[in-house]
Amino acid sequence: MLRKPKHLPHHRTGAAQRGDGRDEGAAYARPVADPRPAERPEVEVRRSARRRRTVSWRREGATVVVNIPASMSRAEERHWVDEALRRLERSDARRRPGRRAGDADLAARADALARAHLDPITPDGGWPRPESVRWTRPMRTRWASCTPSEGTIRVSERLREVPGWVLDHVLVHELVHLREPHHGPAFRAAEAAYPRGERAIGYLEGLAAGAGLEITGTDDEPGDEG
Ligand SMILES: [Zn+2]
Repeated sequence: MLRKPKHLPHHRTGAAQRGDGRDEGAAYARPVADPRPAERPEVEVRRSARRRRTVSWRREGATVVVNIPASMSRAEERHWVDEALRRLERSDARRRPGRRAGDADLAARADALARAHLDPITPDGGWPRPESVRWTRPMRTRWASCTPSEGTIRVSERLREVPGWVLDHVLVHELVHLREPHHGPAFRAAEAAYPRGERAIGYLEGLAAGAGLEITGTDDEPGDEG
């Protein structure tokens, strides 16, 4: 029986070369040094004779790999590469809600987290409510900070790129500081009400190590402006 070849040679498409007439070779050689989200990622198109109609895509590191049937035209390839990038961008935005969030979005998120995870503590049964929750320029030694006396919370712009559950851990941590300035047992007990805290701390440790940041823990205790 005649067997079809398992794979045709991979066809690699540098993102930058598509449609803008730039040299194709240069597109692969360029390292992905700047991971800004708005930037179009490197795309690698793999054509397979085994595929009939299905198209799939996934990330491999900084590269988006798009698998298409060998029979597809260039126009179809362009269509599916655009489609893959559009859908990945959309799912990233869902998973990384900080990306486009403004201060008001951050404050609303903190408010919802306080309602969901923190015990009512004010005499009228409210929850710790910050005066303000704002993004702030990336800090060298912490992910966020809280000034309980002013009721203000600041979150490092670095956390725009983390998954929502990691951002949420940081927000809960800072909300708890509104009533517990120090990282004592009462603080830890309240913070633990957010269920994915341990995993979030692990994620942040990995992020700090990877970026060469001197950040241990979520923050310094409020008032320690170190
Ligand atoms: Zn803290």
